[in-house]
Amino acid sequence: MSNQTDTDSTASPVRRIAILGARVDDVTWDETLSQVDRFIKSGQPHQIMTPNPEFIMIAQRDAAFRTLLDRVDLAPADGIGLKWAARVLGERLRELVPGSELVERLGDAAAGGQRWFLLGAAEGVAAAVGVELRRRYGGLQIAGVWSGAPGPEHDDELCARIEAAKPVDVLLVAYGAPQQDLWIARNQPRLRIPVAIGVGGTFNFIAGRSRRPPRIVKRLNLIWLFRLITEPWRWRRQLALVRFAGLVLREAAVRSVSAQNTGTRSM
Ligand code: UDP
Repeated sequence: MSNQTDTDSTASPVRRIAILGARVDDVTWDETLSQVDRFIKSGQPHQIMTPNPEFIMIAQRDAAFRTLLDRVDLAPADGIGLKWAARVLGERLRELVPGSELVERLGDAAAGGQRWFLLGAAEGVAAAVGVELRRRYGGLQIAGVWSGAPGPEHDDELCARIEAAKPVDVLLVAYGAPQQDLWIARNQPRLRIPVAIGVGGTFNFIAGRSRRPPRIVKRLNLIWLFRLITEPWRWRRQLALVRFAGLVLREAAVRSVSAQNTGTRSM
């Protein structure tokens, strides 16, 4: 993993914005897919995170997570909440690149026998995802699947499994944030997989364990509401979204007051 997106020779410069001090990249689908393609061709290790408002809230209290988000190779915006926040803060995100859809688009684009390793989720889920992905995407080989656990005490065992399955072009890790992203950062120096992505609950969607949002829900950017209705136990976690909205509005108000003060002083 490079230290800075814009100094990585295999990455094109990407415009970053800050939302509540946390990094989000203004990248389109096309830019994301071509960036991933370059990462794979380079053979060098890369890490991708797909920040959503929950990530931004974790970054408020967890400096290590905030620093990691800042130094991964690509951080496309996942979730309408970020697009709204960017607008309120006078920034612009051209497109959303939700992590769940990213896996499918990468599958669509996977040509020439690309090899993926699927790590994480509950027992049996990664295996079911492997079967489903192979069925859907002819250009894809599943190098291995394993549920495992995200704690550092399991790192050696999990890395040995992934090593044994090499070559691996893409590693998808489904342990939820922040564990999945910290897992990748901790283990990429020895694994050196060209593309490693934390994918949250995506395996559950693909394996049919969580209900898939219908296309209209995706088009209206209401995936968060759909998940709240279909998985009501999430309500406590989704309170983070309310806190996120409150912080964004407060930040916008603070900026507008300080802009007014500057204007008054310079009169
Ligand atoms: N998970 C896991 N081990 C853990 C914690 C989480 O395998 O110790 C998996 C969990 O089964 C789920 C995924 O991590 O498949 C996290 O999904 P969640 O819906 O919380 O992620 P989101 O999409 O909301 O980021």
